[in-house]
Amino acid sequence: MPSVNPPGDGEGAVAELLRDRLDGSGLGTQILSSPAGRPSLVARLPGRPARPPLVLLSHTDVVPVEGGRWRRDPFGGEIIAGELWGRGTLDMKGVAVMHAEAVVALASRDREPDREVIVVAVADEEAGGGEGAGWLVADHGDQVGFTDGRPQPEVLGEGGFGLSGIVARPLMPIVVGEKAPLRFRARATGTPGHGSLPPERQAIRELARFVEKVSGPRRARLHPVMREQFAALAGTVEGIQGRLFGLLSGPNGHLAARALAPQLRSRAGAIGHLISDTITPTEIHGGYKNNVVPGEAEVSFDARLLPDTDADALLRELGRIGRRRDIEVEEIWRSGAPASPRSSLFDVLAAVSSRLPGNPVPVASLTPGATDLRFFRARGSTAYGWVPLVLSPELLATFHGDDERIPVDGFATAVSAMTEVVTAAAS
Ligand SMILES: [Zn+2]
Repeated sequence: MPSVNPPGDGEGAVAELLRDRLDGSGLGTQILSSPAGRPSLVARLPGRPARPPLVLLSHTDVVPVEGGRWRRDPFGGEIIAGELWGRGTLDMKGVAVMHAEAVVALASRDREPDREVIVVAVADEEAGGGEGAGWLVADHGDQVGFTDGRPQPEVLGEGGFGLSGIVARPLMPIVVGEKAPLRFRARATGTPGHGSLPPERQAIRELARFVEKVSGPRRARLHPVMREQFAALAGTVEGIQGRLFGLLSGPNGHLAARALAPQLRSRAGAIGHLISDTITPTEIHGGYKNNVVPGEAEVSFDARLLPDTDADALLRELGRIGRRRDIEVEEIWRSGAPASPRSSLFDVLAAVSSRLPGNPVPVASLTPGATDLRFFRARGSTAYGWVPLVLSPELLATFHGDDERIPVDGFATAVSAMTEVVTAAAS
């Protein structure tokens, strides 16, 4: 089912397929449409009201495909050599199916769940969630577990896949928080003129200096969740790598992070971007003719901040740097939420993770990218990103990439693991 976003056509067909599976299993299902007509499925299995509802959050849209680069039809759904191929198998229709099957299994028992369980499969995640999870949480909170006088829902959603082949045992992240996007622009003004008579103050040159000054990773530091992750890795990994993780989780971890930051960034994948805030220029506009010096130039930035970074303080600092060059800094948009604390659900996830094939090491983690979980966290939910599927680096690289696919046997194991989690959490 192609449901590429933008524009998101086809999200409705995915929502209907999930609804048809959940209807008749004792769940109340409905498809809610945002003002722009984007459909999201909400399916509720009643349970005792004293405990927080458990929300299983997925999205029905997928990122575009560069069709010519795929070795198979991205929407063919073919199973080849034990792998199911298709855009969305990992991100995240496969996970939506895990959620649905787990709740169908829970509903088939003859006792009432200990808490309400709500399957939420939303539109529009890949374009920011404003027509999906963001809209639901803001305008229909009562449908997704927020009820006055009752505890806030706990949420399971996307986040980390298990990863094999890096250290001796696979790693199984339980994502408790994510970096917060902060978009801003900087505008420089200068003296316009002819290219043959260059004025002293040129907008593009001033702006270039500002870009050079503020772009890149900020000073490395350890968020408590990353310190905990490094401690878990130090206890798992042998040899020099293990000793380095020991340094990072030790009393001088901040200093070690600063010293090791370049190596971590070049060799440790996402971890390298979880030890500092980053500021990255993403769009630049200025000039209109090759021999004219423009009077104005502008650049936009995408900053990604650790969950405990003070975005206002950062903007003030950037504003001060800009003012020295007569450059105006202006916020465009921000989002984000604090990291979630530990709850008994975390312990369930850790226990089930360590029983997956290969005995993965569960590790608390952050992600550099933003997901729909932030809307729930920002409203007070405890939310974890957890997908019980252990992937090789090769398969993980197909996420948002070419030839996205999921191992069929790992998928079956993941459905069982998700069912175990949901059953334990609702018993
Ligand atoms: Zn996703």
